[in-house]
Amino acid sequence: MALPGAATSFATLTAPPPPRRRRRAVTFRATASPKAQRRPQNVPGEFFVGEQSLSHVISSLSLSLSAPVVCADQRCIDCQTCRWMAPEVFRRVDGKAAVATQPGSQEERTKALQALLSCPTSSIHTNKPPKDILQVQHMFPLPLDEDLLPVRMPIPSIADIIAMPVCLFHPCLHSHHQTPFQGVYLCGYHSEHSFGATSYLVTHPQGNILIDSPRYTPKLADNIERLGGARYMFLTHIDDVADHRKWAERLKCGRIIHSGDVRITLLYPSLLTAKLPKELSIGRGGSSFTVEEGTADVEWKLHGNGPWNIGTDFELIHTPGHTPGSVCLHYKPLKVLFTGDHVAKSEESDGLNLFLIYSKQSVSLQVDSIRKLLDVNFEWLLPGHGYRIKYKDVQAKNAAMESLLANYTTS
Ligand SMILES: [Zn+2]
Repeated sequence: MALPGAATSFATLTAPPPPRRRRRAVTFRATASPKAQRRPQNVPGEFFVGEQSLSHVISSLSLSLSAPVVCADQRCIDCQTCRWMAPEVFRRVDGKAAVATQPGSQEERTKALQALLSCPTSSIHTNKPPKDILQVQHMFPLPLDEDLLPVRMPIPSIADIIAMPVCLFHPCLHSHHQTPFQGVYLCGYHSEHSFGATSYLVTHPQGNILIDSPRYTPKLADNIERLGGARYMFLTHIDDVADHRKWAERLKCGRIIHSGDVRITLLYPSLLTAKLPKELSIGRGGSSFTVEEGTADVEWKLHGNGPWNIGTDFELIHTPGHTPGSVCLHYKPLKVLFTGDHVAKSEESDGLNLFLIYSKQSVSLQVDSIRKLLDVNFEWLLPGHGYRIKYKDVQAKNAAMESLLANYTTS
């Protein structure tokens, strides 16, 4: 597969090995579960955040770590997702999410249901199954900001229509049909495997890009295909890859990750127990270990320091520090920067934060990577976790970057 307009650095991409089966958690999801127990911090009413029930503890203890069972009432991991998706409803109370105010309007209810579907641990519940949940499922992927960053849907020209092949075998638009739409969407359906990281979809006439991995959900896949599917799946770094393999198989997209974040997770026999389910048994094919997780089979591996380009509209900027292979994606026409976990907004203030507690490399390296962003023309900062930022202009963005740098250069 050729990347249109790709820089010569892509010539170093290596051919992918055959796909491997990946270990998966068995997940039960429900919108209303009799096992769900309300956190006492919730206000009374229909919506509530649950907490771990005794049945969950028993089921978890009865299974090995290699076959986790995630119940519908698993404990909140405080990933912020519900708080930025439905800030009118959810708050952080005693270190975890809780319903602070029941939805007071249809808009607030819709946002609360979007948060319910996106919660990576299925910790959000309603007293009864909500009748409008299917309607909300259809909304994903969500346009990022209909007021400030509208999804552009220009009327295609005759030449565009002729260039778009009609698929006779599928009712949907596949990625090879090249959508004329141009915009940024939130995928929702966050995955616990990436600690609730946000995944985005960029639609583009030359092929859509899925940025990091949402929880694999067939319904979401259907909806993404209606927007043209995805030609590429760009992985900002190793932490947020979640269900990348399933998405690649479903959407037939080429995955991109920096070689510094290529991982093979090996399970050694000494870590296994007799309780391991047969289908997850080690030593498949006679080897002493098996590859269960990782990114070794990603199709496109970036080498060196870049930058790299996808066509003329996307630039990939190597920003090591959080991980060796952290890369930001700059969507130039809409002045958007997808930062992964390199930098994000602090929840406690309007300032930026490097979240060094999670960094795999030195502070100085991560700070040097921040300096690179001073030269990047963006006004939207879309992080892997937490709140997005819309700066007034590039000067305001640079002021925020300089302020962040000052925190690490004056001490
Ligand atoms: Zn990370």
